[in-house]
Amino acid sequence: MSETIEKVKCLIIGSGPAGYTAAIYAARANMKPVLYQGTQPGGQLTTTNEVENFPGYPDGITGPEMMMELQKQAERFETDVRDGWVTKVDFSGDVHKVWVNDTKEIHCDTVIISTGASAKYLGLDSEQKYLKLGGGVSACAVCDGFFYRNQEVVIVGAGDSACEEAHYLSKLCKKVTMLVRRDEFRASKIMAARVKNTPNIEILFNTETDEVLGDGQVVTGVRVFNNQTQEKHEIPATGFFVAIGHKPNTDIFKDFLNLDETGYIINVPGTSKTNIEGVFVSGDAADHVYRQAVTAAGTGCMAALDAERWLAAKDSTFEVSTSTYN
Ligand SMILES: Cc1cc2nc3c(=O)[nH]c(=O)nc-3n(C[C@H](O)[C@H](O)[C@H](O)COP(=O)(O)OP(=O)(O)OC[C@H]3O[C@@H](n4cnc5c(N)ncnc54)[C@H](O)[C@@H]3O)c2cc1C
Repeated sequence: MSETIEKVKCLIIGSGPAGYTAAIYAARANMKPVLYQGTQPGGQLTTTNEVENFPGYPDGITGPEMMMELQKQAERFETDVRDGWVTKVDFSGDVHKVWVNDTKEIHCDTVIISTGASAKYLGLDSEQKYLKLGGGVSACAVCDGFFYRNQEVVIVGAGDSACEEAHYLSKLCKKVTMLVRRDEFRASKIMAARVKNTPNIEILFNTETDEVLGDGQVVTGVRVFNNQTQEKHEIPATGFFVAIGHKPNTDIFKDFLNLDETGYIINVPGTSKTNIEGVFVSGDAADHVYRQAVTAAGTGCMAALDAERWLAAKDSTFEVSTSTYN
């Protein structure tokens, strides 16, 4: 073995709520986890201001602060948190091989994948501007809908998730305008019917976003155009929700792990196990349904416990720390 190859018991890829929670459990179980943060240390929550639905923060907390706390907690138990992007893996043999930044090679007994997913956006400059300002653009109705109570919002999307999110918003907001690019929904009939039958949801078919409007700080409306007539008009709104899908960050695993048609890693139901022994998944990388910090953290815990039990069964010399359960 070359000197440059490092051997680790438990490698965690990703530093969102799933990765750090896996690290806390793995570290307390004596697995000496090494965690690579990737290009977004702290994960998706670092792009949001207020998190009000993570248990334990009665007054809410900002996303970046919450993730700093999770990192601190993981490091308290001596998780080795590192900068670095995993560029390649080879899960074909008994030893799981992982490359960081294309150069560093690591051989791992267990790997916990917590690489998350990225929300898709339209890509308009005005959308990105208010997204970065935290001024009214969101890709998560469950996370941010509450901030728009009794207000008017616009949502873009035509699939099942978009319908679900529009319906969720309709219970909080005065009015929801839904922009659908084609002349029909992509969603299932039942989901489309639910939206159509909700009185405070207005659906505009053949309609696309021309510009997100604002006062320089917050969103004040959306200019839309009909893609059949090219006619434009403005809709007053304080929130602009984008529900056009997510892309799981799983491309590097596709040659080894079973993925669904969108790219989410398929886990053995009720566990964090993948189709490869010793490789586990947690968080949004495998979750196209809930996509919340608390569910990501929960599955991070599952992945560490599954990894620890797998290691203990394989290697009788590995001593599980009793502190896992304390
Ligand atoms: C704007 C916004 C607001 C939100 N608000 C809330 C909220 O209020 N409440 C809530 O519960 N949820 C909220 N969510 C959803 C929540 O952020 C996610 O469900 C959660 O972060 C998923 O956690 P995760 O650990 O699976 O992945 P992520 O948080 O997506 O983290 C993925 C991590 O993997 C790393 N990574 C990816 N690929 C690689 C690689 N190849 N090598 C190394 N590292 C890699 C990234 O750098 C990142 O650190 C929000 C999401 C967004 C976008």
